[in-house]
Amino acid sequence: MKILVAVKRVVDYNVKVRVKADGSDVDIQGVKMSINPFDENAIEEAIRLKEKGIATEIIAVSIGSAAHQDVLRHALAMGADRAVLIESEHEVHPLGVAKLLKALVEKEQPQLILLGKQAVDDDAGQTGQMLGALLDYPQGTFASAVEINDHQATVTREVDGGTETLTLQLPAVITADLRLNAPRFVKLPNLMMAKKKPIETLAAATLSDDFQPRLRLLNVAEPPARKAGIKVNSVSELLEKLRTEEGITI
Ligand code: AMP
Repeated sequence: MKILVAVKRVVDYNVKVRVKADGSDVDIQGVKMSINPFDENAIEEAIRLKEKGIATEIIAVSIGSAAHQDVLRHALAMGADRAVLIESEHEVHPLGVAKLLKALVEKEQPQLILLGKQAVDDDAGQTGQMLGALLDYPQGTFASAVEINDHQATVTREVDGGTETLTLQLPAVITADLRLNAPRFVKLPNLMMAKKKPIETLAAATLSDDFQPRLRLLNVAEPPARKAGIKVNSVSELLEKLRTEEGITI
């Protein structure tokens, strides 16, 4: 079974991003970029399925500029067999990404497509769902456990108030939650070996003629600064302050 895993290059989750002075966007000049954390879970799950003898080939794919090669090399170092860069000079939003992934799925015919549940830069949480809909494949989103038997995937997913278990007919789209697994540590020799592996590059325009953004970013602003907290000596003092200073009726 072939598995396709989508990996996005995002600002490292440890970085505190700043808004540009003109409010046009966040400033990512010189900022550390990494593989989207949920996509590491997706790659890890694919590798575990290969180790169990269920998967035969893992293809990692990223959409973006040539700089996205670094996250593909990370995926190769973890254990992916092949890497594909769908190159686009311009930013591609979730619907465009889903359309490009659909074209690659039609070309590669994987039985399972794994994505992260969301990218930590846009927090959209849309691409897997849109891809499932465009392909008309069953989808299991926010997966915290995945089992593959014959031509079915059993997916445990996190929902409000607990978990839900679904059975999907393959081919299917699954998006990974952090609880799915603990991604393996990438060893330096594996990273060095991954640097020598080829990365297939496809121009985005050869896969779709309709992946341009439909959203325009108008303005970005810092959240308002929080007021410093104070300590009160008793519940009655707290209630009094809420009444007189915050105008709350208790
Ligand atoms: P989003 O819908 O933007 O929150 O992204 C959800 C998931 O879609 C990510 O965790 C990735 O698996 C995949 N994805 C989104 N954008 C890209 C991209 N540019 N390249 C590869 N995968 C992507």
